[in-house]
Amino acid sequence: MADLPERRERRTISLRTRLLVLVLVPLLGFAAFASILVTHRVQRVQAAEDAVRQLRAAVALDTLRARIAEEAIPLVSSVELLELSAEGGSLRERNRLAITLHTLYAGAVARTDVAVAAATADPLARPQVAQAVQRLDVVRASWGAGETASARETSNRQLFDKYRFLVSQLSEAVDAHLITAAAESGDTGLQTAVTDLRLAARATTLAGEEVPYYLGYLSAPAGAEGPARTLFLRSWAGFKNTSDDLVASRHPAIRSGWITAMTHVDAQGIDKLLAAAAADDDRTVPGSDVLVQLSTAVVGRDDALREVLEVAAEEAVRTAEAYRAQARRELLRYGGAAALLLVLSVGGTLYTSRSIAGPLARLADAAGSISRGDLVDVEVEGPPEARVVARGLGAAVTSLRSVQAQAQAVADGDLEDEILRRPVGGPLGRVVHASVQQIVGALRDRELLQEEMAHQATHDALTALPNRAEALTQVDRALRRTHRTGDRVGLLFVDLDQFKTVNDSLGHVAGDAVLQAVAQRLRDRVRAVDVVARLGGDEFVVLVEPVLDDKGLVDLGQALIDTVSAPIALPGGTESRALVGASVGIAVSRVGGQHPGAGGDGPGEPGEQADRLLQEAHTAAYRAKQAGRGRVEVYDDDLRAALAAQTAVEEGLRHALAHDELVLHYQPVTSLDTGRVGSVEALVRWQKPGEGLVPPGRFIPVAEGSDLICDLGRWALRTSLRQLAEFDAAGGPCAGLRVAVNVSGRHLRSPRLVDDVRTALAAAGTRPDRLTLEITETVMVEDDAAWARLEELRAIGVRVAIDDFGTGYTSFGQLSRVPVDVLKIDRSFVDSDDPRTVELVRLVVGAARSFGLGVVAEGVEQASQVHALQATGCDWAQGFHFSRPVPAERLAAAVQDCGAVFAATNGFERAS
Ligand code: C2E
Ligand code: CA
Ligand code: CA
Repeated sequence: MADLPERRERRTISLRTRLLVLVLVPLLGFAAFASILVTHRVQRVQAAEDAVRQLRAAVALDTLRARIAEEAIPLVSSVELLELSAEGGSLRERNRLAITLHTLYAGAVARTDVAVAAATADPLARPQVAQAVQRLDVVRASWGAGETASARETSNRQLFDKYRFLVSQLSEAVDAHLITAAAESGDTGLQTAVTDLRLAARATTLAGEEVPYYLGYLSAPAGAEGPARTLFLRSWAGFKNTSDDLVASRHPAIRSGWITAMTHVDAQGIDKLLAAAAADDDRTVPGSDVLVQLSTAVVGRDDALREVLEVAAEEAVRTAEAYRAQARRELLRYGGAAALLLVLSVGGTLYTSRSIAGPLARLADAAGSISRGDLVDVEVEGPPEARVVARGLGAAVTSLRSVQAQAQAVADGDLEDEILRRPVGGPLGRVVHASVQQIVGALRDRELLQEEMAHQATHDALTALPNRAEALTQVDRALRRTHRTGDRVGLLFVDLDQFKTVNDSLGHVAGDAVLQAVAQRLRDRVRAVDVVARLGGDEFVVLVEPVLDDKGLVDLGQALIDTVSAPIALPGGTESRALVGASVGIAVSRVGGQHPGAGGDGPGEPGEQADRLLQEAHTAAYRAKQAGRGRVEVYDDDLRAALAAQTAVEEGLRHALAHDELVLHYQPVTSLDTGRVGSVEALVRWQKPGEGLVPPGRFIPVAEGSDLICDLGRWALRTSLRQLAEFDAAGGPCAGLRVAVNVSGRHLRSPRLVDDVRTALAAAGTRPDRLTLEITETVMVEDDAAWARLEELRAIGVRVAIDDFGTGYTSFGQLSRVPVDVLKIDRSFVDSDDPRTVELVRLVVGAARSFGLGVVAEGVEQASQVHALQATGCDWAQGFHFSRPVPAERLAAAVQDCGAVFAATNGFERAS
């Protein structure tokens, strides 16, 4: 055990968690992918928005640039014009020109300020606008400075250069914004729009330069005209090329706008003039009207060009905004798709969890409960695999339930439960079912055994009839029933006649066969509802319930005698047959179970009533036997009165024993040889208060009906032996006498007899050989146990006498075997004058002597009897002739009298 690694339940991740991970991993991957896409889209939206801002800044700055460039045109024109007119024009003409140009300039300044305000509103352009405005203020301050014309001319020329520098700076700024916008847009459509816008901006820039360069060429001092012309030609050619590019623009609005602007009358005029100047080297200055017209035309043309520029800008902004809107839509689409997928994934996870993890979790719960012995229902649900497992578990639960139910039925002892016969599925179920069957079988066997034992306890083994106890129970039940119904119960006591003879002559086997045959015949003769029982020995009873008429009951009794009296074939294939008869006593309960009872003292307990009914039937049967066998006697009021008296005696005697009302009288037994008294017979008397001495004949037979006689026997043994010791102690004629005590048949049959005798001897301290037990011949029948008891007592020295010898059936032959020491010849023989009887006495005495037995003649009343007995050789005599039974205190005198009587009887006739 020790080297086995302990198996631990590894910590496992629940299915739910695993499913969650399974779903979350791709979900997170997708989320990352979606977020990258969305981020990208967001960046594109931001770039588009940035491009729009850059474009707006570019447009604002370009407008400002154009306005500032326009400011320079009248300025330059005025220098050139003033110079040119100084050579030929009048003062009034010059002034008018100056005013016109200044008015143009003032208009341009006003428009520039408007453009400044608009551009300042653009947050991106604002710093560049501020810088440009600062420089513009410086340039404007130097306008018209200088006292002399040449000084002003120099100043204005420098001023023009400053304007040009400012404009070129703004152009660069515009271009920078446009480049950024194009770069950030990343979209070809927008890039095209921005390219067009740049072209337009460049065109307007070049357009703004071309006239000042032209004027600069015209007014260049001698020797400097070469470079001036180059500048003019370069700007003119640049404008022309750019213009051609715009005419080829893919945007119809820009193209048509540009074409419209270029066909504008001012644009046409300027173009014509500059084309002529470019064609030949003629530096002929046009008239001042033409120049003024030129200045105005420049503004008109530039306004037209500006419109194209704005169209291009709007186009670019629109493209950028469309692009931004598209980017936003994509963002929404991707975001929505991501959110939708997220919801679907979470929903899918929940669904999966519910449809797989849920059923599996419940399955696991059910399995847990089942493993703890709680046989719960298993729900079949979820995916097919889970269903298969659930069905399997459910089947296991079903068979376990069957097993449980069967075990429960066995535990409850409900062996008839149908469930115990129902087979249980599966190998385990089969094994358990087989075990249960075996247990059930064992339990059934035990029940059968118990039933059998109960039957044995209540039934007679030989005849299988109910036994005495069961008979009493049945009688009791019948009495209880009739107590309610008002019916009567009849009890027939069947006592076999001559059964003892059959048993003694043919043996026990034949006796048993006779009893079985009688039982069967009784059963066959009565109704099925009647109860036939065997009380023991050769006594049977038949219980009849209810009794409808008494005559019928007597007829039944006679019928029972007849059926029993028919010859009984004996087993063993012999021809031998047994013949027995029967005497029947009938007792009937009183109406409604009311039974006055022997003492007339009320109904008594049902158990007592049953006892009494049985006793009554028994008494009736006894009387039938005495009145001549084979008769039916019905228990009547005479019998009832006798029984009542008997019961009264019993109770009185019980009281007498307890309250010392009994005394012993002693009758001396005198030697017919010497006249000496050798022993006394103890005879019980009842000193009943108010009644005097009651002789034993009135209560001994009653006492013999119960164990009361044994109590009485014990008392007599104890008392006589104690008084014997007192006689010894007192000295005189009674010292050294032996005592004879009568022992009844019932006491003899009691296993306590030996103990009772030993106890009494020990208590008195008397030697056993001074005690003789008298047992009447009629009870001295062959009873192995009783004989063994007597042998045991004789072994310790106690003597045994056969009382009333001659009244029973003891044959002379038997005398050698009977465990006795003395024969007491019954009074009826002593009393008789019949010579045959005298001869019989002589034979008895002779036989006794030959077997070494002592002989006592009872009931000797006359001297003649003494002489007759002496003639037979009889040793001892007991009778009124010598002494009546006397109380202990008078025994000494009686003993002495016996001697005197003997002397008188043998010496001389006393005068009577
Ligand atoms: P039993 O054992 O045969 O006792 C002798 C009976 O004959 C006594 O009657 C006695 O008084 C009487 N008897 C003696 N001599 C004569 C005589 O010359 N003529 C006549 N007619 N009778 C004589 P008792 O004392 O009335 O006793 C009757 C029976 O009662 C006894 O007969 C005995 O069987 C029984 N008995 C007496 N005492 C006891 C006892 O302590 N235990 C038992 N179990 N039975 C006793
Ligand atoms: Ca006696
Ligand atoms: Ca006797």
